[in-house]
Amino acid sequence: MGQAGILSNGVHSHSRQGNTASGQIYQGKEARAAIVGRLAGWAKAQVFATQVADFCRDALRFHESSSLRSSLYEINLRHNPVGLRYVQVALQLGTSRTAESLSHELLHLGLSMAGRPLPESIYVPPGLVSYARHLIGIQAIVYNLLEHELIHGAFRFLGFDQTRFLTDLPAPPDYEEIAVLSSTTCTEAVWFPWWCSEYLRYWLSARHGLGNVASVYAERALCWGSRLYPSLREAVRQITGMVQSGVLIDRDLYPGSVNRLLQVMRLPGYSEWVVLKPADGGGPSVCEWRSEDHE
Ligand SMILES: [Zn+2]
Repeated sequence: MGQAGILSNGVHSHSRQGNTASGQIYQGKEARAAIVGRLAGWAKAQVFATQVADFCRDALRFHESSSLRSSLYEINLRHNPVGLRYVQVALQLGTSRTAESLSHELLHLGLSMAGRPLPESIYVPPGLVSYARHLIGIQAIVYNLLEHELIHGAFRFLGFDQTRFLTDLPAPPDYEEIAVLSSTTCTEAVWFPWWCSEYLRYWLSARHGLGNVASVYAERALCWGSRLYPSLREAVRQITGMVQSGVLIDRDLYPGSVNRLLQVMRLPGYSEWVVLKPADGGGPSVCEWRSEDHE
């Protein structure tokens, strides 16, 4: 039996896919100029990008390459004492939605720039330690999806078409096959959160511009997942209810709301949160966020 543990949550990223280091990497003022250049023709997005760059200053990195498999953002934190190593946006070139992808990643960053708490460490309860790596992988995906709920409206405000907020979703895996497999080989602690995240991913994608196809996939996940775990239906009802109620919007209630959602999905929650503050010097500073300061 493992021990409960607190793990550092060092990297916030839009995607966990590996990326090669080819292409161009810019820093600070050069990153700012390169980003603004990539948004030519999108005046509002350029203004927003400038605000993000001016907040990050020397801590900003911009990586662009056609060999990247996706675009992503990263807020890389140092722990004990907590601090900021760098903020990075990586842009996949050669797609039909370069400006949209870049703005999407900048909007993720913009949440922290606007004072929204950022998870700094993860609490893994004793019963879940054996599955920690798997569950933290799902948790990161869920966290990213929840941020989409906060930024997809701003994407439209920057002048973009809502249907271009996300890349096209890949079709889901064969849920029937997975349902058969998981009924014989694996524990509920591993699979229940996975079925929840599959539902959430497609349900939110439908909400964020991908429409009917994503809704059909969400229902398919729920159909097969709930045959194995009937309580999935109640969990999904709670998750969608919480998102629709707007509990994620309030900045000060955000850490508690995120943790409640993760709890319904039976995923580890976040135990410490930080906020980024603009600095006079080279880049933003990091402060601990405490719930009692916000009650
Ligand atoms: Zn995203």
